[in-house]
Amino acid sequence: MADQCGPDRGTSKHSQPRERAHFRSLSYARPGQSDGRSSTPATATTPISYNDVTMSIHLLPDDVVEKIAAGEVIERPASVARELIENSLDAGASHIRVRIVNGGLSEIQVSDDGCGIPYHEVSLAFQRHATSKLAAFEDLSNLRTLGFRGEALASIAAVADVTLATRFQDEPVGSTARYRFGESESLRAEAVAAGTTVTVRDLFANLPARRKFLRKPSTEGQQVATVVARYAIAHPEIAFSMHVDGRLALQTLGSDLLDALRRTHGPETADVMLPFEDADSGLRIFGFAGPPSLHRSSSRQVDIFVNGRWVQDRVLARAIAEAYRGLLPTGRFPVIVLLAEIPPDRVDVNVHPAKAEVRFADPDKVFQVAYRAVHTVISDPALVPAIAGLEAGAFVPWRLGGAEASADSAQFPQHALYSQAGPDAAAAAGRDGPPVALAAGALPPLRVVGQVQQTYIVAEGPDGLYLVDQHAAHERVLFERFLAERQAGQSQSQALLAPITVGLGASRCLSLQRHQARLRELGFEAEPFGNDVALLRAVPAILADRPASLERAFIEVLDAVAAADTDRWLEHSLVRLVCHSAVRAGETLDYAQMREILRALEATKSPRTCPHGRPTMLYLSSNMVAREFRRR
Ligand code: ADP
Ligand code: MG
Repeated sequence: MADQCGPDRGTSKHSQPRERAHFRSLSYARPGQSDGRSSTPATATTPISYNDVTMSIHLLPDDVVEKIAAGEVIERPASVARELIENSLDAGASHIRVRIVNGGLSEIQVSDDGCGIPYHEVSLAFQRHATSKLAAFEDLSNLRTLGFRGEALASIAAVADVTLATRFQDEPVGSTARYRFGESESLRAEAVAAGTTVTVRDLFANLPARRKFLRKPSTEGQQVATVVARYAIAHPEIAFSMHVDGRLALQTLGSDLLDALRRTHGPETADVMLPFEDADSGLRIFGFAGPPSLHRSSSRQVDIFVNGRWVQDRVLARAIAEAYRGLLPTGRFPVIVLLAEIPPDRVDVNVHPAKAEVRFADPDKVFQVAYRAVHTVISDPALVPAIAGLEAGAFVPWRLGGAEASADSAQFPQHALYSQAGPDAAAAAGRDGPPVALAAGALPPLRVVGQVQQTYIVAEGPDGLYLVDQHAAHERVLFERFLAERQAGQSQSQALLAPITVGLGASRCLSLQRHQARLRELGFEAEPFGNDVALLRAVPAILADRPASLERAFIEVLDAVAAADTDRWLEHSLVRLVCHSAVRAGETLDYAQMREILRALEATKSPRTCPHGRPTMLYLSSNMVAREFRRR
């Protein structure tokens, strides 16, 4: 990309040809306003009191106005990150690097290789309502940039200590500027690499009341990470990286959406998601939708983007909810990334101070296209784990076993299982209750009938037949057992009689050194032995029965630990670990082994899916069998 700001700005959705003269020339949207303010006495002579009915009307002092206005735009570190990233995207960057220290409270830095700001425009960029993206009000209806209000830099500079280093692509020398809590401290011409780096320190240090409202650094940092992840998804062609307290937490390569998703959602989740796309009258809806078996307790992984901007949009959220209706357990939410591209004159982005909402000119059309796009892919019969030849939906993964009970259920007393699972499950077991979420230990007692294809356990429940994938079921059991033992502080490691050597290669050996502590948490005791071999002394207890898998499992878990992001490393690596620890497809199981797997599965919290999100079982209800045999 020769000209980052120019017409050939890659595949970005905002890559409309940009007239440099238009984009780069900053202009005031509301000239003269600040003059008006400052010509008024900054401090009213009348003492201010809320009860004082005689208080005269007065203009607020500039710094108060600034702080109030800044408060609308900048609420927390994540809003700073969002605004700075949007600026980098608007500048045509192909690499965006985000660093935070102490959850962003001490420092947030966003660095890009975009077009930069010319020296003579730097101070203008920090003024409120100064933008290079909008000249007249009418331009709003044809907006192709993420920013347009010219408020972000001014707002951030009003509430933090901000340093900007930038070099405009056509200028030989760059500039550095510093603003501290609304005051300009310095502006210098300096040698700076092309692009822009904004460093924001001590956010809200001048507004203790605001700072008090912030959550603990780890929570604020998590929100920044979410913002970065969302932009990485919305702009997969751009390489993002994020460092948290000096450690790399997220990195995308700037390739395609699936790759970005694998890095933000983890490969286990991304790989089971299904691509969808639909278009109609200039509107394009596309993305990746999780299969119905993948669901979450909150809507945090329902991500909606309109023209490259993450938004909370009711129309699209409703379309998604409708598309999944009846396919998800009640109270559960899908994992989905939906991107809408819509001509800028058909969407109003100027309806929310933080630009988090939009309004469509034709919401019904948007709803229809989005609903169709998502529904078509997730209701594909191949995805519904019902037994072939029977109607889709036969599998009711969120129902309690007894909910669709038939006469023969009397043979299977609904014994202690439900009460063990707690009051929610007990209530839900009532016939009239609504279907409940998986959270309740919702599997009825199952009786082993036999094994087929050395892969599936055939079982009978009070209300029908179950075909259980032995590997997937065992994975679920081991996954939850591991987590439960970990929580109980039990040792999960088993020493090997004699250490074994595992050939790793140099780079994995380095990775082993770096991640030794996490591997130990998983139960692996290993140390580098020379430059490219590891000595494995102990392994996770759940793996101990599978001596043939030790080496492979160790390497894969090591890779998973190294690749996983900070928060979900355990989940990711555990998925790999249990995959190696569980019984395989193709393994003959005796009756006792099968019964043990089913008993243990009954006791898990989410018996219907394996940790990868795939179903553990198919279900054929007694009613359905009777119907198919024309018995009723
Ligand atoms: P807006 O994005 O709404 O225009 P901002 O206050 O965020 O307002 O930025 C003001 C101006 O500063 C932008 O219009 C743009 O010209 C310039 N600017 C800000 N950040 C960058 C950046 N990272 N690269 C290039 N120009 C930038
Ligand atoms: Mg901006």
